[in-house]
Amino acid sequence: MSFEVEKTVSLRNYNALALDATAEYFCRLCSLDDVHQALAFARANKLTITALGGGSNVVLKNTLHGLVALVELRGIRHRCVGDDVYVTIGAGEDWSSLVALSLRNHWYGLENLALIPGSVGAAPIQNIGAYGVELCDFFVSLQAIHTATGERREMDAKDCEFGYRESIFKRRERNNYLITEVCIKLSTQPNNRWQYPALRDALEAKLGDASAAQITPQLIAKTVADIRRAKLPDPARLPNAGSFFKNPLLDEQQLARLMVDEPQIPVYPAYNNLSKVPAAWLIERCGLRGYRAGEVGVHERQALVLINYGSGSAAQLLALCEHIQSAVEQRFGVCLEVEPRIYGSF
Ligand SMILES: Cc1cc2nc3c(=O)[nH]c(=O)nc-3n(C[C@H](O)[C@H](O)[C@H](O)COP(=O)(O)OP(=O)(O)OC[C@H]3O[C@@H](n4cnc5c(N)ncnc54)[C@H](O)[C@@H]3O)c2cc1C
Repeated sequence: MSFEVEKTVSLRNYNALALDATAEYFCRLCSLDDVHQALAFARANKLTITALGGGSNVVLKNTLHGLVALVELRGIRHRCVGDDVYVTIGAGEDWSSLVALSLRNHWYGLENLALIPGSVGAAPIQNIGAYGVELCDFFVSLQAIHTATGERREMDAKDCEFGYRESIFKRRERNNYLITEVCIKLSTQPNNRWQYPALRDALEAKLGDASAAQITPQLIAKTVADIRRAKLPDPARLPNAGSFFKNPLLDEQQLARLMVDEPQIPVYPAYNNLSKVPAAWLIERCGLRGYRAGEVGVHERQALVLINYGSGSAAQLLALCEHIQSAVEQRFGVCLEVEPRIYGSF
């Protein structure tokens, strides 16, 4: 398909929240040549570039000015070094399909990250994670192109400054790079990680008493997929962007204050002596699970997920988000940070 820039394109089918936003300009990037043509077009017309993958972690307001570039760069290659398998993946490949392919090939490591929607190129943006595992556990490097200068850069894990749902691409280098390729290191030897409480409980329910000998990477992936299907609404049927808020990271003092009134709250160790508490738990304690405000609402089974029931707008969704944030702040003194990236203007 030859490179083409379209004007005034609806993004409704390109975001998991099914928000009716419009891109001023829109193009698809299927090759590196397309990337360079898009950069040249943006430079010539003084436009910003917004990369879009599966649209599963964005909130799009009415209008996205500039050029929205749908990343569709494909290709997967691998190289074995002893037990290690270095897999290099085009940014437009589907993450879930990559996990399935890796398991079919007996390349282990990604099983806890089964069924996370979206593209491989977006995975480093927030260092995707689930069930005790994060992208940074396997990450080797990525190739990126600076959208303003066209400079090509290889970045390793240190350059990416990964954290909990964080990276340099959400902070200092926000919107500055287009990721074209990601390289991860998997292994032909299973290294099962199943101690994350929800996963361990589900395995125990399946196996009786989860003993390490019975647990395989395939079983972990299947169990993770089962939990996710039971817990999370499918965006194709009930538009949503997964977790709308990050789980707050609290220091010792903040945690001690919270535990005075809420001694039952689950607490997980996190980075730098901080503790992670579930945002869903806080929202639920405010009585907001299942809360609905017109065409948007909080999912009835998972309080971390905000839903567009059909014709909800970004304005309604962000008003609901503020309502939840202020309820949690007032009751617990804890600030909830929004996880998806917000783009565009009203
Ligand atoms: C039902 C559901 C469940 C989810 N569960 C999880 C989960 O368990 N764990 C988790 O971590 N996340 C989860 N998410 C969030 C989402 O799946 C991830 O953040 C995913 O990586 C987003 O991929 P995407 O291609 O859809 O990104 P998009 O939504 O298209 O983009 C997200 C951000 O990445 C940028 N971006 C996308 N592609 C590129 C690129 N090639 N170069 C530069 N920037 C780029 C965009 O500009 C944007 O800022 C879930 C989402 C849904 C809807």
